[in-house]
Amino acid sequence: MTELVTTLIHHSYQPPAGFGAPQPGVFKASTVFFPSVTAMREFDWKDKTAYTYGLHGTPTTYTLEERLCTLEGGAQCLLAPSGLAAIATVALALLRSGDEVLIPDNAYGPSKALAEGELKAWGITHQYFDPMVPADLAAKITPKTRLVWLEAAGSVTLEFPDLCEQVRICKAAGVWCALDNTWGAGLAFKPFDLVPGAQAALGVDISIHALTKYPSGGGDVLMGSITTQDDKLHMMLKLCHMRLGLGVGANDAEAVLRGLPSLALRYSAHDASTRLLAEWALQRSEFAQVLHPALAQSPGHAHWQALCENAAGGAAGLFSVVFAPRYSQVQVDAFCDALKLFKIGYSWGGPVSLVVPYELLKMRQSWPTHLKQGILVRFSVGLEAAVDLQADLEQALFSSGLSA
Ligand SMILES: *Cc1c(COP(=O)(O)O)cnc(C)c1O
Repeated sequence: MTELVTTLIHHSYQPPAGFGAPQPGVFKASTVFFPSVTAMREFDWKDKTAYTYGLHGTPTTYTLEERLCTLEGGAQCLLAPSGLAAIATVALALLRSGDEVLIPDNAYGPSKALAEGELKAWGITHQYFDPMVPADLAAKITPKTRLVWLEAAGSVTLEFPDLCEQVRICKAAGVWCALDNTWGAGLAFKPFDLVPGAQAALGVDISIHALTKYPSGGGDVLMGSITTQDDKLHMMLKLCHMRLGLGVGANDAEAVLRGLPSLALRYSAHDASTRLLAEWALQRSEFAQVLHPALAQSPGHAHWQALCENAAGGAAGLFSVVFAPRYSQVQVDAFCDALKLFKIGYSWGGPVSLVVPYELLKMRQSWPTHLKQGILVRFSVGLEAAVDLQADLEQALFSSGLSA
């Protein structure tokens, strides 16, 4: 007989196997037990057939990784503590002093900050290319170029690039191309199979996804993923990921697992409301330009149409407006403050609609030629009724004095 405390810790009860329920169980661990010392010596943490340490994977994280592979059409997946951590892991795993990385000028801002900060300090250079001019990307590839980032649609301004042509340019030059696939979410298009039915698959080498957005769906989880199809490339990323000690919490992984079954339904609901509001904005004289890839007038519309319109998905729940140049920053800020349902805040993909005014000139090399001059505001459309969101936008235009 052992003492009570010992019995409680080493309790012999095992629940019956075969428990089935809609959601997979949540396994939490730093320590993982080995059945023997021999097993401890033999189990390889890189091999997903067993468990060695919580940081190297649990049933919960393996399950999430496999489901994300299915979502994106990849073969291997790594989880990171945020979307930005996923981006940084790719850079740290693949780039060395003397290398150069190419980034689209409309990339997610903190990804550019990483290049301008840590990467530069480590002797890794970067250049920004025009996402709408494939020849500019081709011209910027040199023998130093190791990695090219792609993003479709672009952050904040939502231009849709000729993704297929960009990938072809990278393949022809023999450089890795990594896509920030947060906007497409694995639904708008297939990053590893951009031309379904083509004889030879055309796809990116790496897809990162800020699971923080649509897969989580709640605005309450930070997580990222790095998905690949090539085993060698995956292993380079995995070794770096392990050495950096990156992991995710089991409860967060569970929250994303809970979000995945409704991902496609939510994405299309966000999409439908966003298109209604973007069409409404197009009719309003307060806006000089409305940016949403499904609008014929929006930059890169034809590329979106070719890649996404006939695919399973469509477009994410984001649109931006450029206010007519007669409005000052103070006036546009007052409009944002006057919104009631749209909250002021970063990120997207959750149920609550969000608004952010951006100072575009601080974010870009120069004012993009395809954009009208004026103050830019981005809306993230949540899951509220579109008619209520439209009424909110209308009341804010009037109560802030922008419309008479
Ligand atoms: C939000 C976002 C990220 C970063 O995700 P976090 O989890 O917030 O770090 C990366 N790329 C894009 C396009 C995003 O919108």
